[in-house]
Amino acid sequence: MTSGDKLLGRLLGRQPLPADESRVPPQAVGLQLVLDPQGRVLTSSGPLRHGLAQLPPSAEPPHLLDYILPGSTLALEGRPADWSGQVLDLDLRGLGGKTLHLRGWLQPWGSQWLLHLLDIGDLIQQRQQALSREQCQIFAAQISEQIRLCNLTRLPDVLHDQLADLARYWHIPCLGLALLDEQEQSWVIHSCYSAHDSPRLWHDDQDLGTGLDSLSGNTPLHLNQIQGLNEHPRLQGIFGHREGFLVPYRDDHGVAAWLLCGCYAVQQHAPNLLDRDWLALTAALAGPLLSRLREQRHHLHLERLEALQGLLGTGWWELRADTAEVLLAKPLAASLQLPADSNRLSVQDWLELIHPADRAELNSRLQALKLGKPLLLCVRLHEADPSAATRWYRLQGQALGRGEQQRLVGFMLDISDIKNQQQQAAAAHARLDNLIASSPAVIYVQRYLEGALQPSFFSASLQPLLGWSLEDCNEGAVADWVHPEDRDLYFQRCRQLLREGNVHARYRLRDRQGNFHWVLDEARLLRNDLGLPVEAVGLWLDVTEATLAAEHVRQSEERYRILVEDSPAMICRYRPDLTLTFGNRPLAAYLECAAEDLPGSNLGQWLSAEQREGFERRLTLLSPEFPVSTAEINLQLPGREHAWWVWSDRGVFDEQGQLLEIQAVGRDNTEVRRSQQQLTQSAKMATLGEMATGLAHEINQPLNVMRMAIVNVLKRLNSGDIQVDYLTEKLHRIDAQVQRAARVVDHMRVFGRRSEVEQQPFNPAQAIEGTLSLLAEGMRGKGLELRISELGFEVQVLGFVDQLEQVLINLLVNARDALLGKQGQQKDFKPWIAVHGQRDEQWVRLWVEDNAGGIDPRLLERIFEPFFTTKPVGVGTGLGLSVSYGIVQNMGGRLSVSNGQDGARFCIELPIVQADQITR
Ligand code: ADP
Repeated sequence: MTSGDKLLGRLLGRQPLPADESRVPPQAVGLQLVLDPQGRVLTSSGPLRHGLAQLPPSAEPPHLLDYILPGSTLALEGRPADWSGQVLDLDLRGLGGKTLHLRGWLQPWGSQWLLHLLDIGDLIQQRQQALSREQCQIFAAQISEQIRLCNLTRLPDVLHDQLADLARYWHIPCLGLALLDEQEQSWVIHSCYSAHDSPRLWHDDQDLGTGLDSLSGNTPLHLNQIQGLNEHPRLQGIFGHREGFLVPYRDDHGVAAWLLCGCYAVQQHAPNLLDRDWLALTAALAGPLLSRLREQRHHLHLERLEALQGLLGTGWWELRADTAEVLLAKPLAASLQLPADSNRLSVQDWLELIHPADRAELNSRLQALKLGKPLLLCVRLHEADPSAATRWYRLQGQALGRGEQQRLVGFMLDISDIKNQQQQAAAAHARLDNLIASSPAVIYVQRYLEGALQPSFFSASLQPLLGWSLEDCNEGAVADWVHPEDRDLYFQRCRQLLREGNVHARYRLRDRQGNFHWVLDEARLLRNDLGLPVEAVGLWLDVTEATLAAEHVRQSEERYRILVEDSPAMICRYRPDLTLTFGNRPLAAYLECAAEDLPGSNLGQWLSAEQREGFERRLTLLSPEFPVSTAEINLQLPGREHAWWVWSDRGVFDEQGQLLEIQAVGRDNTEVRRSQQQLTQSAKMATLGEMATGLAHEINQPLNVMRMAIVNVLKRLNSGDIQVDYLTEKLHRIDAQVQRAARVVDHMRVFGRRSEVEQQPFNPAQAIEGTLSLLAEGMRGKGLELRISELGFEVQVLGFVDQLEQVLINLLVNARDALLGKQGQQKDFKPWIAVHGQRDEQWVRLWVEDNAGGIDPRLLERIFEPFFTTKPVGVGTGLGLSVSYGIVQNMGGRLSVSNGQDGARFCIELPIVQADQITR
């Protein structure tokens, strides 16, 4: 019962006051009105009278109805006499448009009526508030239930509907629910509603920034209140600078949501809703919503986790201490290839899955885990098939809780890929390290620091190579190691490296012992994304040996070059097609050109076609087994006579035995050759001289015959007995003899001539014939028998017919001399000289034999020596056989002697030139 009711009861129980028509005793509470029987207000008293509305002044006193608000006029039907005896609830017009809720009763007051009224405004308000709260609670329950029970997919729609209902019920034009985005730490409109005729202050997912952070969040806030403080300009911005109302929601993390009512005068539209009602309403909305959102997040999280575990071949495990069982996440069980639905197994079975090599350690670590030591271990699976690839798992676990409540949880992750790669990388790394360490190269890294390069790494090979280590390498040390003569080059290398990004240099570095090493430096500058230098990576290759070797080679080459250049011999290299690739100065001098012009020119241009052919033929005979060949070649040098060179070739072959190049050394043999020719010539002349007697006989013979013929003809002429026939016959005889003499003279002329330069093919029978034409008559005249056999075959030999003739003459003359000497000593000696020949496939042999008894065996070896003669001084020259020997040798043949039965047996052996060689 309110204080108003108590007062009313007390007043109702009292006796009516003594009648004083005009005055009402002053009362401490309420309002007392004296009414006339028509209900006009005569006087008023009591504290509430000041709250009554001022009526416009009039002559008549105002009627009570003039004060009454329309809602309660029904209670005042008729006159005051009708109203007495009942409780009157009246709403009176108050000052400033306010309503005065009053309750009272009417009592007679003399001839008038006294209306006692007491204020029941607080009663009414309480009732309305209670009603509102009830409404509010129903609403809240409904909202909460809707949000809690709806399907997650419908949550946004349901929430929106609830907001709309709320807004409509309490006439909120704009209503929004702002939640804290925990990741961004900013407030976001999660959902909002605007009445169709209201401004749209917000939209869903609108980011409000941190404007709500500064509010206390304990009680609802009226924006017009805080506006006065002007502390929240950002908040005003959120509310579009209109009136607003904000209700916080706190959970155990603090303020988690704000219900924002925009364009809303809360006092006016929901005067009976107290702050706590608003808080409850907001809590009913935000609480379940947040938990649903958390649920949603959790759900998504689980889904993600599930997918992730499946993808990674990973999953959680939990070891139950009480049952000694292990629970495995489904994806993990699948990854471990356990049968379906067997994601619960004993610890023992679980350990059985692990490779024996890792099993004991895992078991021990699990025991340690129970004592709180976190578990982290990489284990292999025990594969039934030993040839299968090793599968690695990373196993991590931690203990949650203690004692009875303790749970051991963790995860297993398939890291086979990583592990295998790691092993491969480690192996590769080890190989590389080994390579780096054992290579003669030092790998270094120099850090770029304000334009300078500071060593920051050296491979281990630095120590064995130079004896230095990175610690020895304070600033500028590397430059100190560089040989003083190479320092300029080194600094230039550093500048080039920074400028161009890479460099290649060779310089000397000092080792710890003070010895210098030639190093080849290859470096590269590495830059960052911005193109700025970060470090230089490079390597030093010790090329001391190679450099020294190269230097030796260079020096040796230089020595050989000088040797070759200064050699009096001609030295050259040429290709099989006779193109010169190198020729020294002497060769160039002979060929009358500059040594530099020799490469590229062809040796063949100085050879006659035949010489060239022979030259090339000789080259074809070179082989890797017999790479050397020596010959005397004949060249036609510019503006000079024929030159004779003794020429030695050495073939250079490739692996397939193909002739690549020929290196040749030559010596000018022209002078020797010329003196040889002269010698031959002199020998020839000597032979002629020796033959002179024979020749005189040869010529005398026809002269005698002619003289006899002429004497006889003259006799006949003188006697006048001359007949034409006789004369003719004599003249013919004379002519024959003239021809005979002419032949001898002719032949002598030919014989006396110098030989041609080029050898010619000829039939050796020709030489025999020529010899006999010169000697036969003379020999026979001396009583020597010539046993000349026809050769009986046709062959060709290469050389000069006159030279072979000279040989034969020498042999015949020697035989004659020996025979004549013998003839003098021995009576009835029948001297003879035999000449005959024979051939085989390759050789033709001509024999000259006599029966003069042969040569003293002690002299046999010496008779070919020049100037060896047994003949008296002035008779023999000792040149005949020696020159003959040279001639036969020059023709590629051999002259030999032996003693036969009757005398000396000389053999001229000559190579037969095949028909195809002649035509070529
Ligand atoms: P020469 O006839 O001027 O002495 P050769 O060189 O022709 O010079 O001969 C050298 C020597 O060989 C002769 O002096 C002679 O003693 C010996 N000789 C050569 N041919 C015969 C021969 N058929 N029988 C015996 N001795 C010979």
